[in-house]
Amino acid sequence: MKYRKFGKIGDEVSLLGFGTMRLPTHNGNPKDIDLEKTTKLIRYAIDHGVNYVDTAWPYHGGMSEKAVGKALPGGYREKVHLATRLPSRLVNGPDDFDKLLDKQLENLGTERIDYYLIHTLNRKWWPKLKEAGLFDFIKRAKESGKVGYVGFSFHDTIDIFKDIVDGWDWDFCQIQLNFMDEEYQAGVEGLKYAAAKGLGVVIMEPLKGGKIVKPNPRAEKIWAKADVVRTPSEWAFRWIADFPEVSVVLSGMGELEEVVENILTMSDAEPGKLSRKEHEIIGEVRDMYRKYIKIQCTACGYCMPCPYGVRIPRSLELYNDMFMFDTPKEANRVYWGFFTEENRASNCRKCGLCETKCPQDLKIMDLLELVDEKMREIKE
Ligand code: SF4
Ligand code: SF4
Repeated sequence: MKYRKFGKIGDEVSLLGFGTMRLPTHNGNPKDIDLEKTTKLIRYAIDHGVNYVDTAWPYHGGMSEKAVGKALPGGYREKVHLATRLPSRLVNGPDDFDKLLDKQLENLGTERIDYYLIHTLNRKWWPKLKEAGLFDFIKRAKESGKVGYVGFSFHDTIDIFKDIVDGWDWDFCQIQLNFMDEEYQAGVEGLKYAAAKGLGVVIMEPLKGGKIVKPNPRAEKIWAKADVVRTPSEWAFRWIADFPEVSVVLSGMGELEEVVENILTMSDAEPGKLSRKEHEIIGEVRDMYRKYIKIQCTACGYCMPCPYGVRIPRSLELYNDMFMFDTPKEANRVYWGFFTEENRASNCRKCGLCETKCPQDLKIMDLLELVDEKMREIKE
């Protein structure tokens, strides 16, 4: 495993971090985490050099922190830098900060969270949390020893990102970055901006929610031009690791094969290691995906559950896949054959709840309309 300095904090952190948004579950129920398998995966990763484990209050419907807390006893807690996030959306007043933190310590079965992030800072939550007393809370939490270092995770435009970076003496930050999103949200400009100010930078969504690693004949044809054989996820991880400003790359791993492959990749990836030809090949794949990915959903699931039962990310995925794989009939078959009436995009009542939670700021209600229209068009 390669290790990098975590910005001005100076800790040596593993280039691969264990993300816990996509843990193995029973029967596809996100809340019903397979604890035995999760524990094995996390411990395997730690035994093979991963020393950064990241979770968050809302992951797996509130069960991810508890699962991580169950995986770390037996000497593993001491071997990792443990990160989780203040659930910004649940802060309605100054008293909420400390209550939420105390609950998170209990969930994780620990007395200290090493790296504490303010979750999903954007133009909406940044002023709201400041008003509620965020900075006093950060000082209190650090002084009490309940948290070590404080940073923020981010989804918004670069101008807001810079405003937040400059708005407090942060220790680190977490941004979305992959070879498709170099100019999206904070992007490469944000990475370099934060690193230049001494912040450790953690990367999330390195595979764009899995979109850029799905088996894809168009992409395979382009990857085959390279002199080396790599899986799509290896290409994606190496593109990020090529930036010296990156400290940790999170991967939400749910299968042992993924853990093994990612550890191998991150045991060899170094800044500046990709050749010009390799960058050109990645650029070609990027151009191809830009042409075919119509909706920028990362399948994070934050918008779920829909109170009316609409399968939001799956509906958007079906739409994308139809263009990506030229399979309108297959998408149509799934939509009409496997979705219930309740699940379908047409059941959206436009309550707007999902849109308030989407970190990609997608106009979900309009998109669902588009999906349903397309499916009806194909059916006719
Ligand atoms: S806007 Fe539609 S899809 Fe979104 S939560 Fe409301 S009913 Fe569900
Ligand atoms: S629509 Fe938004 S919140 Fe829902 S899964 Fe996609 S990116 Fe996540």
